[in-house]
Amino acid sequence: MHELSIALKLVDLACEHASSCQEMQVDAVHIAVGALSHIHEPSLLSGFAIAREGTLVSEAELIIRQVPLVLACTDCERDFESSGIQDLRCPVCHGYSTQVRHGNELDLEFLSLRPRQDENISIGSVSNPARI
Ligand SMILES: [Zn+2]
Repeated sequence: MHELSIALKLVDLACEHASSCQEMQVDAVHIAVGALSHIHEPSLLSGFAIAREGTLVSEAELIIRQVPLVLACTDCERDFESSGIQDLRCPVCHGYSTQVRHGNELDLEFLSLRPRQDENISIGSVSNPARI
């Protein structure tokens, strides 16, 4: 049910924009989901499909950008991609002193918009970063 509440929040945010800018239609909601955010993507996508029904953004798609876990080694100051929480050791200096650089994201990055009632106009976007 975690995913459904996130989907409802995303639809709320997108509707907020859609109602403040009624000449544009929201085509897609783009989010970034970090490897540590514990999101089950199929549940989020189906939750979004349910949450958007009957709203101003009933046609909008949810586009998920996956963000891998990237750690920063505090000993040698290198960043490295990790396969998961079991893999925290720096591949360069083999130290265990690391901090999460990326992977906690759960962000609304932007909305893809297009003018209403015109299928052939190129897609614009609005930058609207927000922590969900
Ligand atoms: Zn290191």
